[in-house]
Amino acid sequence: MKLLDGKLCAAEVRTELKARVARLAAEGKKVVLAVVRIGDDPASEIYIRNKVRACDEVGIVPVVRILPADTSQAEAEAVVSALSSDPEICGILVQLPLPAGLDEARIMRLIPPEKDVDGFSAQNLGLLASDRPATVACTPQGVMELLRRNMIPLAGKRAVVIGRSNIVGRPMALLLLNADATVTVCHSKTQGLAAICREADLLVCAVGRPNFVTADMVKEGAVVVDVGINRTAGKLCGDVDFAAVAPHTSYITPVPGGVGPMTVAMLLKNCVDAAERQL
Ligand code: NAD
Repeated sequence: MKLLDGKLCAAEVRTELKARVARLAAEGKKVVLAVVRIGDDPASEIYIRNKVRACDEVGIVPVVRILPADTSQAEAEAVVSALSSDPEICGILVQLPLPAGLDEARIMRLIPPEKDVDGFSAQNLGLLASDRPATVACTPQGVMELLRRNMIPLAGKRAVVIGRSNIVGRPMALLLLNADATVTVCHSKTQGLAAICREADLLVCAVGRPNFVTADMVKEGAVVVDVGINRTAGKLCGDVDFAAVAPHTSYITPVPGGVGPMTVAMLLKNCVDAAERQL
């Protein structure tokens, strides 16, 4: 068993991005990422802090807009619209979830596809679905990058993705399909989940439940990617029963230190890509 070390890979990605940011700077282009937080969700606060720190590390300028939880729909839309039309801003990230009462879809639609560094827009999802160049959601893109840098072959392999959310499971399945894997997507209504998982050469789990993937669901020698982030008794863990599953795998991601750091690295990458396109 080998660990898929997301911390290490993310550090490599950041080193490459630092050089690209410096090249852009030499041509007079600043890479600016706008981050919008509405309300005081504590997890959002931590995520944003991590993203800002990562921006600083590669030379991306973060612009953080913090709005109170009682921000009206019109106020939220005005902030996002202003960032959308500001030529200095290369990418816009609206940290989800938004406080109840705000129309998330309407706010997200105001981000133009070229500044949509989260890859959530209908245009970017549509491009991905039709296997054309797109800005891809950071988490599944980070998983692909982790697999690629560890030279894990995908063409012709059986891949099973557990979870079908728009930000993880669905784009993950599309990326694996585009990489010529044979993909099965499982979700809360799937029957016979364990048997399906046992067929997987690559098993990706994005459910959000500790110890969801147990040893009896994993084929001997499979690659297991744990996207889940769960907090139990103040400790972070993934969706995979790591101690029981790891000995049966050829590669497995730890939590923390697996997919998480890659997600942040891909956000930076999407932002640098956007800046290069704008130049
Ligand atoms: P979500 O709640 O939107 O989706 C969960 C998915 O799990 C759903 O598609 C659902 O159908 C599926 N599911 C639920 N119960 C199931 C069951 N019994 N059998 C099979 N499938 C089942 O969550 P999400 O936003 O996709 O996130 C999933 C997990 O990944 C969460 O723990 C989240 O915190 C984590 N996450 C991690 C990162 C990262 O950077 N590592 C990024 C995003 C999300």
